[in-house]
Amino acid sequence: MPMLLPESLLMKEADHVEGFAPECAWVTQGGSEPLAERLAIRPTSETIFCTMYAKWVQSWRDLPMKYNQWCNVMRWEKSTRPFLRTSEFLWQEGHTIHATAEEAQEETLQMLEIYRDFAENVLAIPVLVGRKSELEKFAGARATYSMEAMMHDGKALQAGTSHNFGDNFARAFDIQFLDKDGKQKYVEETSWGVSTRLIGAIIMVHGDDRGLVLPPRVAPIQAVVLPIAAHKPGVAEKAQEVADTLKAAGLRVFLDDRDTYSAGWKFNEWEMKGVPARVEVGPRDIENGVVTVCRRDTLEKVQLPIDSVGERVAALMDEIHVGLFQKALAFRDSHIQDVTNMEELGEAVQHGFARAMWCGDDACELEVKNRFNAKTRNMPFDQTPIGDTCVVCGKKATKLIYFGKQY
Ligand SMILES: [Zn+2]
Repeated sequence: MPMLLPESLLMKEADHVEGFAPECAWVTQGGSEPLAERLAIRPTSETIFCTMYAKWVQSWRDLPMKYNQWCNVMRWEKSTRPFLRTSEFLWQEGHTIHATAEEAQEETLQMLEIYRDFAENVLAIPVLVGRKSELEKFAGARATYSMEAMMHDGKALQAGTSHNFGDNFARAFDIQFLDKDGKQKYVEETSWGVSTRLIGAIIMVHGDDRGLVLPPRVAPIQAVVLPIAAHKPGVAEKAQEVADTLKAAGLRVFLDDRDTYSAGWKFNEWEMKGVPARVEVGPRDIENGVVTVCRRDTLEKVQLPIDSVGERVAALMDEIHVGLFQKALAFRDSHIQDVTNMEELGEAVQHGFARAMWCGDDACELEVKNRFNAKTRNMPFDQTPIGDTCVVCGKKATKLIYFGKQY
């Protein structure tokens, strides 16, 4: 879909324009000519998809329609942070339309679950999934769901979102279809996305003072093989053999046989780049029929028999994944506090999340934002109450919700 959106498209859905207009970068001139209508650099693509849906959809037979595009979008930011909050960012945005509200809701929650599964089982980042408050939902959505990750410093990163629009946009853009019962109906719509912000999450959840710590399932290089004292007879050959064995075991491997750098220099470089395992092959290792493997996550060294090095290092990748996830989970859970009053809430969001009961009023949410610079994260699907009164106003609480400072 095109990158430039005529202002009139953006204006069609009232909440959407209100939410996004302040963040838009505008093209006002083409060459030396001022434009009759200014064009927004897309902050997101609902309006252009909707324009096309209105032309494409005729009957229930055309539904559902599901599209995904990878593209750069732009949202003007006053202060930026590499990977976490940048004006221009790369993301995938999925857009779907359906015949029924049930199907749209199913799609919305399915994508949230796919994102959660990816964050936890590939990136080793534990996330809290749930529904956003009315104030924090996407502009124009009926409901927004998010996954929220906790960074090293206790701040939250909204790491992915999935929205159910109901027929809001369908009405604004007149997207109707002829249903099985012969009646014209509005479609039900969803959209969902994750971005390169997830790279920021990887850095901030797993990294340490030595540099990156990459989760094995996305590490471009999972194991680096380093010959030690490579000039000694047999070492270079053995290192090559070990690298080949690891590759044959399905691992992504780099044999670092560059002789322009010392072993110590290479150790530092691969540590900084976060490669999950360093496999050293030296004369003494070869004599003993082993290799020395150093784990990036714990910096522990173990010796593994050279005969079974393929399967052992492959198994180590899963061990590292589980270790990274458990460590991040333990950190997060020890930085979530159940709170029952504002004093406790203010204290909790200094170094993590607060979990609290809330009456559902925007005013209480804003009070927390103004006093502590913390926002609601989301409402977990398990709404088992931890009290009956709102943490802010003391009135009857209806929702369990997380608060936290954010990136
Ligand atoms: Zn309240």
